[in-house]
Amino acid sequence: MYIEKMYINGEWLAANDTIEVHNPATKEKIGVVPNGGEKEAELAVSAAYAAFQSWSKLTAAERSKFLMKWSQLIEENLDVLAEIMTNEQGKPLQEARGEITYANDYIVWFAEEAKRIYGETIPASHPNKRILVKKQPIGVVAAITPWNFPAAMITRKIAPALAAGCTTVLKPSEETPYTALKLVQLAEEAGIPKGVINIITGDAPAIANVWQKDTRVRKLTFTGSTEVGKILMRGAAETVKKISLELGGHAPFIVTANADLDKAVDGAVASKFRNAGQTCVCTNRIYVDKSIEKEFTSKFAEKVSTLKVGNGMQDQVVIGPLINQEAMDKVKKHIDDAIEKGGTVCVGGNPLNEAEGYFFEPTVIANARDDMFCMYEETFGPVAPIASFDTIDEVIDRANNTPYGLAAYVFTENIKEAVHIAESLEYGIIGLNDGAPSAAQAPFGGFKESGLGREGSHFGIEDYLEIKYISLGL
Ligand code: ADP
Repeated sequence: MYIEKMYINGEWLAANDTIEVHNPATKEKIGVVPNGGEKEAELAVSAAYAAFQSWSKLTAAERSKFLMKWSQLIEENLDVLAEIMTNEQGKPLQEARGEITYANDYIVWFAEEAKRIYGETIPASHPNKRILVKKQPIGVVAAITPWNFPAAMITRKIAPALAAGCTTVLKPSEETPYTALKLVQLAEEAGIPKGVINIITGDAPAIANVWQKDTRVRKLTFTGSTEVGKILMRGAAETVKKISLELGGHAPFIVTANADLDKAVDGAVASKFRNAGQTCVCTNRIYVDKSIEKEFTSKFAEKVSTLKVGNGMQDQVVIGPLINQEAMDKVKKHIDDAIEKGGTVCVGGNPLNEAEGYFFEPTVIANARDDMFCMYEETFGPVAPIASFDTIDEVIDRANNTPYGLAAYVFTENIKEAVHIAESLEYGIIGLNDGAPSAAQAPFGGFKESGLGREGSHFGIEDYLEIKYISLGL
């Protein structure tokens, strides 16, 4: 079930050294993967560079067929992929299945978009000239992905790259390499030619360093922390690579006096506790109009107290473990700090079965203040602080008062208010009466320090294309 090798130039390879992979629900070792480094990073680029010459020359329809075949195999292997994901990442099996389907949506979407990479003609200033604009693949793409979506973060990058005619070198997170390796094995089975997708596990900074310096790599795409994103952005400057970054978020969730409360409660639970709060679009802080604060808090707390925590392989579990001890410590730190600053824990607040796995109770904190860590640092865990507000303009200012700008949520049934708030928020994704806005056909990405570029949608393929202008003299 677990592939313990890297895939470079169509060959499955081991390395002298290995790194261990653990199940966060049991803390047990699942297996090992090669601890690849500079040598493998370089080999992968050479393979991708060679493969680019032929892959980029296929017709869009031919590339699309490979992607569709890959997607079909993923669908056929949905159960095994979901099981691998739950074991290495922790999310409940049902949620893991949902992620595989969502990941596959990106492959199908970009298989279709491959055929719609249109150019333009522009009226020239001289009768004997023509201005032609075409788009062509940028070249070798390096992708570095995180552990919170072990499948979707990969297909969201690899599918548009392949659709555009690019070839790829990929480094998945050391926490969740097995889902990625299985996806690549299915790509091989789909007949995607050698060198088009290469995957390396191992030493992240060493691998990234080689890719940043190599002039044959023309684009770097990364999802992860803002801190590492900034390191990569600086590194990419050396060879002026095109760069896409999906970084941290700090999503506000605004509930106005005109909200449908039940809808808002459901939306808040969905956006806060998915993946145990470990997504970059997860609600981080909830702002509720003072007039409905008590009612919202009690309904929300009641719902949260019913969420079952446990090993994601068990039925009825909706919140799995956190990824590791560091994540547990951060959640604890945020809760302790909130209590110290006057917050009231209404539900949860403690680790659970710590000896067994990295479980934490879903937690609701009332009377939150903006100077608490959880109100300005990304918690990445199941903690929902609730603060109240008096006026709409005040809450907009407080929501925008952050270096982040990925997702924000607004619940109101008043259309004027809805438009005003949605247009004033400095965020790339607005869930307006919607706690789960992500979709393959919609643009995903952030403002400010949440990143650069957009993934998914027809905009998503542009990041993998260069624009070429041909001035034709007659
Ligand atoms: P997270 O907090 O979600 O783990 P990271 O930014 O640490 O986010 O990790 C996201 C990805 O970036 C992972 O694949 C990780 O191995 C990789 N990574 C971590 N540090 C570096 C680095 N210095 N250079 C390049 N990649 C890195």
